[in-house]
Amino acid sequence: MIYLDYNATAPLKPQVKEVMNSLPFLPFNPSSVHRLGREARKRLEEARNTLLQVVKGEGYRLVFTASGTEANNLALKGLKGYTVLASAVEHISVLRSAEQPVLIPVDGDGVVDKAALERLLQEMKGPKLVSVMVAGNETGVLQPIAEIAALAKHYGALVHSDAVQGFGKIPVDMGQLGVDMLSISAHKCGGPHGIGALIMKRNVPLSAIIHGGGQELGFRAGTENLAAAVGFAAAVVGAEEIEEEQQRLLTLQQQLEEALLPEAVILGKNARRLAGTSLIAMPGVSSETQLIHFDLEGIALSSGSACSSGRVTISHVLCAMGVAEELASSVVRVSMGRGTTATEVSRFIAAWKALYTKTT
Ligand code: PLP
Repeated sequence: MIYLDYNATAPLKPQVKEVMNSLPFLPFNPSSVHRLGREARKRLEEARNTLLQVVKGEGYRLVFTASGTEANNLALKGLKGYTVLASAVEHISVLRSAEQPVLIPVDGDGVVDKAALERLLQEMKGPKLVSVMVAGNETGVLQPIAEIAALAKHYGALVHSDAVQGFGKIPVDMGQLGVDMLSISAHKCGGPHGIGALIMKRNVPLSAIIHGGGQELGFRAGTENLAAAVGFAAAVVGAEEIEEEQQRLLTLQQQLEEALLPEAVILGKNARRLAGTSLIAMPGVSSETQLIHFDLEGIALSSGSACSSGRVTISHVLCAMGVAEELASSVVRVSMGRGTTATEVSRFIAAWKALYTKTT
């Protein structure tokens, strides 16, 4: 199978498998005071510190959650009395966590309209939280988070960023971004499923949304998933490796897009995007037809957001970008990663062209 669905989930990295397999099968509960508990606590805190170091978040808090979805829920539901201004292209776990979010419009490439955000910030009274993602899961479009955060701060708003698709793929630095809260998830960058985290400044007035034994400094009750936390930390790589992989994926992305144009329409093409993510419309051929064709060819990819796949509907992201319904219903998302090769990209190009020639 040629796997081109890394934005849905990435294969477990060998070093993650190795570290998780080497964990002793012991009754590890980081809250226990006995020796085993203390050993578990030590390993959990090491994992927490590794993740904090990667985002240069020394001095920030990191709360482990069960997923990126839960981290987004905690960020938005845990702040009481705040009006949420979220970009219209956010992941549904952000849009559905906020009570009546005010949507920040985006341009035709899916980039947040900063002038519109400023108007909204000027108009709105009371405590505000601005939530804009680092990288779009469907288009790969990168948002100008540092500029958005500076603008939001000017109007006294707190800032949250969903970095689930950016973390591990591009450098993510809490200080440079200027955000108060950041959501990340392990399985998008080669870590295990079942673990994410919310990283936040210490002064964010957040309350827990899951109540119980007071774990995770009282922000998220429930016995910690130690093996997954250790695996998450093992998935992170240094800045140099990220840079090299980005360059490699950029070359593959260019190979792909140059071969498909001019017949294909690449959504978000004029914006800065994640290297390796291309949302491609094949005019006149539905997403369903394409997915079936590619599946038969042994190529795994999505029609858009994995979280709503299984049912192919027109995405709210493309609606917000003003993409015509017909074009929006003819997209597939190619998302490459660590294991993707130039030969696989060529196989995809050949399969794409074969279908296009046959059906149009
Ligand atoms: N945010 C973005 C941008 C995503 O792409 C996803 C998953 O696709 C999520 C949040 C949810 O993350 P998780 O699968 O860890 O719940």
